[in-house]
Order: sequence, then structure tokens, then C-alpha cells
Amino acid sequence: MKIEGLELLRLRMPLVTPFRSSSASEAVRDALLVRVVTPSAEGWGECVALSHPTYTSEYVDGAASIMATYLAPRLLVHNDVTGEGVGPLLADVQGHPMAKAALEMAVLDAELRADGESLAARLGGVRDRVEVGVAVGFEPSIEALLEVIAGHVDDGYRRVKLKIAPGWDVEPVAAVRERFGHDLALQVDANSSYAGADRSALAALDALDDFDLVLVEQPLAVDDLVGHAALGADLRTPICLDESITSTGAAETAIELGACSVVNIKAGRVGGVLEAVRVHDVCRQRGVPVWCGGMLETGIGRAANLALASLEGFTLPGDISASRRYFDVDVTPPFEQVGGWMDLPAGPGIGVEPLEGVLEEVCVHRQWLSASG
Ligand code: MG
Repeated sequence: MKIEGLELLRLRMPLVTPFRSSSASEAVRDALLVRVVTPSAEGWGECVALSHPTYTSEYVDGAASIMATYLAPRLLVHNDVTGEGVGPLLADVQGHPMAKAALEMAVLDAELRADGESLAARLGGVRDRVEVGVAVGFEPSIEALLEVIAGHVDDGYRRVKLKIAPGWDVEPVAAVRERFGHDLALQVDANSSYAGADRSALAALDALDDFDLVLVEQPLAVDDLVGHAALGADLRTPICLDESITSTGAAETAIELGACSVVNIKAGRVGGVLEAVRVHDVCRQRGVPVWCGGMLETGIGRAANLALASLEGFTLPGDISASRRYFDVDVTPPFEQVGGWMDLPAGPGIGVEPLEGVLEEVCVHRQWLSASG
């Protein structure tokens, strides 16, 4: 497939509620979409990098820059680019997995649309709807947190993930359990905030064992697999790794060391949906359950996440919430959940594309890249 050109589209999409992590707050999603144009079809991808380099080192301005300067030119000089071929063509550029993943997604989507095949079918999906949950950021008070969760429970969600950090862990978890009981599947994500924590902060992780959590995600530093293994030996709550799992090899090492018993898979974090499938495969071979993480995606990224989460090994609900949990108006037809389940879109490729009118409204910058410049 010859790529005639690639368009980078920057979108400005206000979030319904600002998403507060331990180090940043996103009130507007500065989204980056990729449109790839080929003679037979167009394809769409989304780069999941956040505005600031606070989750990993990538950020959206940097991703747009590396795509335009280094990645897109490597694809545009070739006469025959396939979805499978994108990773190898970009491999000599170090890092930038989220930027690479967006390009792979767009090329794969174009290829699948030309072939009339869905992404889920290509990846080996086994279900046409997936169980989904909702992630809740930090709130100013326990009361505010309970109110936010009550709204999600009323909407039908049955699995909630809370962000935790030293000083905001046992108390909110206990309050949520007390208010919503044990029917609500509850898990927590520390985003490495217990790295270097003192004894009393770590004791709080022990105390979380009393609350029947599905898992505790990434308590320690990204590179501290030995620490995670030691902690895992102490805790009854399963440890899940997110930021540490950057590739299939990283997943194999972490599992081998006993650093995790669950893995959060994000295609952007591992360099693309095809590597994400390989991470899924090694986890499944070793009996490690996986689930699909989320990065405040628009409907483009959400559709791709649903296809990935339709694979057999995704046995835990993903952070794939309904569009309206994030945006008043999504760039695609909105995704809905009913009772904690979301249908995969039908149709070839990722199954959705941006609505032209909405795209016009939210797009603040377009950059066309082609071999002729
Ligand atoms: Mg996480």
C-alpha cells in the first residue's frame, strides 16, 4: 500500500470533568489524530500522549514533532507499507511508542478498510461486546469522591478504579467500600507514588488487603521490578503493572520475577496494537489476566481499545468508559455502555470515523505530510 500522505490533526476537546492525577490535571483533551491517505482507503489513528510528560516521558507536542520529523518520512518513502510493516520501519527511532502506535493504527485501519475486515477480527477477538469500568481521579474530599462514584454506579458501571497516593488510600477505599458494598468491583492505581515511600506509607498498602480489591496498580517505580516482587510476596491484593510494561520482553521479565500477577495493556505504551497483542499472548500463556487501560481517548482511540479488549485474555473490565464520561460531544458517534458492557462498533477497520461537522469544530491545527513535502 502506497501512502499518499499523512495528516496530523490537533483537537481541542473540553473534558466534562477535569481529570486529576497525582501530578497533573487535564481540563481539556489536547488530542492528536492521524489520518493516512492511500489510493484504496483512508485510515485513522489516535496518539494517546497527554499534554504533559507526567504519565510517561511522551507528551502531545513532542509526539506531533517526532511524527513529522522522523516517523512519517520513514513511511512516506516506501512504496508498499503494511500495518505489520510499520513497527519495523520505525524501529531505528528510539522510544516514542505512543507516536509510533498512532501511525501503526492509522495504516492498519486503512489496510483493513480496503480489505473489508474489522480490527477485532484481524487481532483475533472472540467477543462482540466487552466489560468496561470507569477510572476516578483525585477528588478534593471523600464526600466529593463518593458523589462522583455514585453518579457512575447510577449510570450502570460495576467496576471502579480509584487513583491513590500516600495520604489518600485507606480512607477513601474504606469509605467507598462502606458506601457501595462488595458488589462493586474496586481497584486502585498508584502511578508509582509509593516509590521511596516511608514505612508508614507502605503499611497503608498492607492495610488495603482488608478491602477485597481486584488489584493495586503500579505502586512502585517503573524500573523497580524487584521491589514489586517483594511487595507482591507481602500483599494478598494482586499487583498489576502498567507503566513498567513497555514491551513483550518487559512483560515476560516482570512475570518471571513475580513482579505482577495482572497486566494493564495500553497499545500506546507498548508501541502499537500489534505489540499489545503479543503482550496479551505472553500473559495468557503464563496464566496472567490482562485488561485494557485508558488514556482519555476520543472515539477513535476508544474504538481501537474495544477491538483489543475483545481478545480472549482480557478477562478483567477495561478503563473504556462511555464517551459522555469524558466529552459532551465526541468526535465520533458516541460510545455508550449498558450495565458495564460496551458493544464493539461494526464495520471494517476500527469501525468508526470522525464526524465531519464535529471535527471542523474541535480541530485547531492540521499538518499535511507527504513525500513531496
Ligand atoms: Mg495506571
